[in-house]
Amino acid sequence: MARFPGVDYLQFDSLLSEQELMVRQTARQFVDDRVIPIIREAYNNAAFPKQLIRDMGELGFFGANLEGYGCAGMNNIEYGLIMQEIERGDSGLRSFVSVQGALVMYPIHTFGSEEQKQRWLPKLQSGEAIGCFGLTEPGFGSNPSGMRTTAEKRGANWVLNGEKTWITNGSVADVAVVWARTPEGIRGFLVERGTRGYSASDIHGKLSMRASVTSSLHFADCEIPEENQLPCAKGLKAALSCLSQARFGIGWGVIGAAMDCFETARAYTLSRKQFDERPIASHQLVQEKLAWMITEITKAQLLALQVAKLKDAGKVEAAHISMLKRNNVAMALECARLSRDLLGANGIMDEYPIMRHMCNLETVKTYEGTDHIHTLVIGERVTGIPAYR
Ligand SMILES: Cc1cc2nc3c(=O)[nH]c(=O)nc-3n(C[C@H](O)[C@H](O)[C@H](O)COP(=O)(O)OP(=O)(O)OC[C@H]3O[C@@H](n4cnc5c(N)ncnc54)[C@H](O)[C@@H]3O)c2cc1C
Repeated sequence: MARFPGVDYLQFDSLLSEQELMVRQTARQFVDDRVIPIIREAYNNAAFPKQLIRDMGELGFFGANLEGYGCAGMNNIEYGLIMQEIERGDSGLRSFVSVQGALVMYPIHTFGSEEQKQRWLPKLQSGEAIGCFGLTEPGFGSNPSGMRTTAEKRGANWVLNGEKTWITNGSVADVAVVWARTPEGIRGFLVERGTRGYSASDIHGKLSMRASVTSSLHFADCEIPEENQLPCAKGLKAALSCLSQARFGIGWGVIGAAMDCFETARAYTLSRKQFDERPIASHQLVQEKLAWMITEITKAQLLALQVAKLKDAGKVEAAHISMLKRNNVAMALECARLSRDLLGANGIMDEYPIMRHMCNLETVKTYEGTDHIHTLVIGERVTGIPAYR
């Protein structure tokens, strides 16, 4: 199995510590050995490679930047580098890791009671339990503040009614972090698999994120105990803070997909010959595309590194993460399109990872705040004027 050589135009690695390089190497090797050999078939069969879950847990990938409860306690650069390598394998696999860590473990860690943390975090960290995050509804995607799902008090319990959709890991989750409207505003709840009135159904027919489970969650008089409310999750801002964690990982992850597209195109254009005995890489139009890709990947790496440093220093703003997510996803998508072009007809084949990355990145552009929404976040940050409505 060919080893990924890495993409480093500007001595980016010199900005990383020994420890950070080691973490990246561990994730890189895992992806080379365990993901690359199976991902094509998993994607074609629309099957999530669940055999990888426990191994990723053992390597500390889940909730890697959280402290305690068995979590690896890594810094945000190490965490980002893990996301980068995993998404080099597949965005669907990275989605699993993002949801598990940033959207399920993070809210339990940040907003949960001590009992909730003890009960769920070690199991989620090891991969013994799987989580999902239910925010989006059929009528409320970019604007989750309109959500219709309700939670009402009945005696000592909460009763949930409503529907969530497009939920990664939905039908395979042991625990769902669900956001619902209560008389006191939006609150977060833990709904466990098997609870009466709670069901999940898978969304079929996806041409993107095929190696990832996506489901709808249904709540029909679903009664859960008071102790399943996340006590410190108050208001939509709690849910949005989880999204900031996940978006940060996405901003790093997509660099991996872009690197894979770049490296595939570079190698292909050096070996492919047309018109004469020279490789197509010797043509200016081809080099222009490779030059664009490597320049944008390099800028994306530096952006990701600075945001990670701000995050580690406790100085990161949601609007910084919006810039990271928006820029790097658009960059990766364009790299995938250029790479596909450079591979000619071969570019559409599943023998190469390009079309898979490209299709996956269409989802990544949409979820965790669409490109438009992050544009508006940045616009508001620089003008002070919200333009969402
Ligand atoms: C594979 C997949 C997995 C997902 N996983 C999860 C998950 O685990 N949990 C979860 O809660 N959700 C998840 N989502 C849902 C995702 O977050 C939403 O799809 C996303 O927020 C966009 O919502 P929408 O699809 O309803 O699009 P819409 O909000 O309807 O947007 C459609 C278009 O309109 C644009 N638009 C909307 N409002 C504005 C505006 N004010 N100004 C300018 N343009 C605007 C958007 O940018 C977009 O281009 C997932 C989605 C997918 C595809």
